Amino acid sequence: MALNIGRVYPNSLHEKDGSVLFLIKGEREKKLIAIGDASSVFRELEGSISSNDGFPMKVCDLSITNSHVIRKYFPYTRPVSLRKFRSTIGLGDRLGVASPGHIEVIQGYNAGPVLAQQSIRELTLTGRTFEDVLQDAVWAVFQEGYRDGFGADGDHLKSTEEVKLALDAGYTMITLDCSEHINDIAGLSKGDVERMYMNMDKGTRERLEMRFLSEEFKLESGFTLAFSQEALKANAVIYQKAVDFAVDVFDAMIRPCQRGIDFEMSIDETSTPTDPLAHFFVALQLSEAGVDLYSVAPRFCGEFQKGIDYIGNLKQFREELQAHQRIASHFGYKLSVHSGSDKFSVFPIIGEETNGHVHVKTAGTNWLEAIRVIIHRDPALYRELHAFALEHLAEARRYYHVTLDTGRIPDVASLKDDELESLMAQNDARQLMHITYGLILQAKDCSGEYLFRDRIYRCLYENETLYNEFLVKHIGNHLRALGFRSR
Ligand SMILES: [Zn+2]
Repeated sequence: MALNIGRVYPNSLHEKDGSVLFLIKGEREKKLIAIGDASSVFRELEGSISSNDGFPMKVCDLSITNSHVIRKYFPYTRPVSLRKFRSTIGLGDRLGVASPGHIEVIQGYNAGPVLAQQSIRELTLTGRTFEDVLQDAVWAVFQEGYRDGFGADGDHLKSTEEVKLALDAGYTMITLDCSEHINDIAGLSKGDVERMYMNMDKGTRERLEMRFLSEEFKLESGFTLAFSQEALKANAVIYQKAVDFAVDVFDAMIRPCQRGIDFEMSIDETSTPTDPLAHFFVALQLSEAGVDLYSVAPRFCGEFQKGIDYIGNLKQFREELQAHQRIASHFGYKLSVHSGSDKFSVFPIIGEETNGHVHVKTAGTNWLEAIRVIIHRDPALYRELHAFALEHLAEARRYYHVTLDTGRIPDVASLKDDELESLMAQNDARQLMHITYGLILQAKDCSGEYLFRDRIYRCLYENETLYNEFLVKHIGNHLRALGFRSR
């Protein structure tokens, strides 16, 4: 078999113990080629053996098993803790084809990328596993010869079982979602809160009162925080179970882990913004319990809706961010900003107030850039997706909170093909496509064939370069607006 050299990914060329390895772009899928059978990497890869001009050659699938062989022999293809980076960005890739573009753009910045980042909700909606997501990132890293390190984030994990799944799959960041352990006391009377507090374990109450009521807390910035009896009781009722949960998970699962884990506590999925005093209440206890935090995600004021700019008061956002940042700096971890896709009006504020010491998560916007590729290269498919999304919107709304109003979306029938891209600049149309991704990807016809999934992957495979270009531009705009330092 003669190889078509024009289809080789040039940066994927690797040499190991006398074998040469590289990726090629086949008609329908990428393949790993290994030439020279003297090495153990050649022997361990699964594939079909043939010969190329007399040299033994193996043609291998980009499978999970083979990705483990690659991870074994090329250590930089393994995910790592990103603590060496001051600035980090989560680049959730729901389709598993965005990482080459992400790698290209991140190489221009002094920032660490989390290339594999999915929540259980996203895995369920896309029909993938933690292993699938990580191996896609591993192959992209190998393809691009990217050696600066990347993270893998099990995002919004809610139970020890979910944390275990992510750790077993090799993830290096654990985002513990504590929302199910947070009490919502909005609307409760002072008397109700008092009763709930008195129902807490007596020893816990005494410990909290001793710790929080006996002194004012002076932060490194010189700023002081003080708890009134009332504030302590409210915070204990709201957050104490979440604190205990985070400490338990850290002690049982993160501390014993052999590799470095970036542990994030997320308290952002609440109905009201996180009070800085509450943030401190949580952080002080975690710190004193020896929990080594990488980041904390508070809920900020205003709205961080999916795939569109920030909605809210910028001045108030800056002030609250400053208060949270003082606490994060005091304890030495990063703030983590979730739903960070497209929040262009607050990016400069985030960059300035954190001085770049921050983690920002994006996900949906990378899917929307894939939709942009489809608009450019297969407008007929886009029209089908759009109609399907409108039809199934009510279902998608069960998973995502958005303000979208379909009445504001232009009628696609009235748009010419070259006008369709204007929809990607219209918030309601963006959110429509953003939240229906799971339904779109999983939809099947009556014979059990995917309605759209295969065609979407095909379009992106054939237009890989265009997708990379769009991602480089769009994520580049994010990084620039955040003020992350370029290399
Ligand atoms: Zn979140």
